[in-house]
Amino acid sequence: MQPFFIGLWVFVFGLLIGSFLNVCIYRIPQKISVAKGFSYCPACHHRLMPKDLFPVASYLLLRGSCRYCSAPISKRYPLIETVTGLLFVLTWLRLGFSPMGALTAALLAVLVVITMIDLDLQIIPDGLNLFILFLALPAIYFSGRSLPEHLIGLVAVSLLLFIVAILSNGGMGGGDIKLMGAAGLFLGWKLILLALIVGSVVGAIISLILLAAKKAGRKTMIPFGPFLSLGIAVAALFGEDLIWWYLMLLLN
Ligand SMILES: [Zn+2]
Repeated sequence: MQPFFIGLWVFVFGLLIGSFLNVCIYRIPQKISVAKGFSYCPACHHRLMPKDLFPVASYLLLRGSCRYCSAPISKRYPLIETVTGLLFVLTWLRLGFSPMGALTAALLAVLVVITMIDLDLQIIPDGLNLFILFLALPAIYFSGRSLPEHLIGLVAVSLLLFIVAILSNGGMGGGDIKLMGAAGLFLGWKLILLALIVGSVVGAIISLILLAAKKAGRKTMIPFGPFLSLGIAVAALFGEDLIWWYLMLLLN
């Protein structure tokens, strides 16, 4: 098959997974099972049929409103599906069809859920961090990095954030610490340090922009989880190259 069509299939697969992630984002904080029961319209509670649930296409065909009660459907559903599709294509381009490719796609999917729940509620559910920990075990085997590198990754950043949490008296959430522990075991200490740097820099820039635009005051709580998730995603996809370039810069 031509690469374009393979990429298209990967994208459609990502859209379908994104559709499931929407269910996770909605249900996990309410402690409703993501495997049981049917999806329903949050406005009229009408059970949704497969034709209502096809990612992005249903949204476009229904022009963004419920087929049964015409309540508007949030744009974030097709947006999350599209982002997940693009992330899967990116993962396939970087890692191909490989064990690390599959594990990384799963990691990115969890990060999408963590990002949205943290934006909504400023929490990162333990189950999601546990899932990353569970993905880390095969990643240790398939990554090509050494076991000590992974084990140090478990504590390299999480311990640092734990100390920051104690010193700042609650400025750093427990969910963020556990996230960087689990993702650190997955990535190893070099990549999780890179993830922290990328997440902190992007977080600082966005916070400054929000402050300048007066969208946030000095006391507005800006969740750190989405930025850490972005950093982890960048490190998982591009980390090896970024570290390589950086070392080349140092040597030249
Ligand atoms: Zn409805």
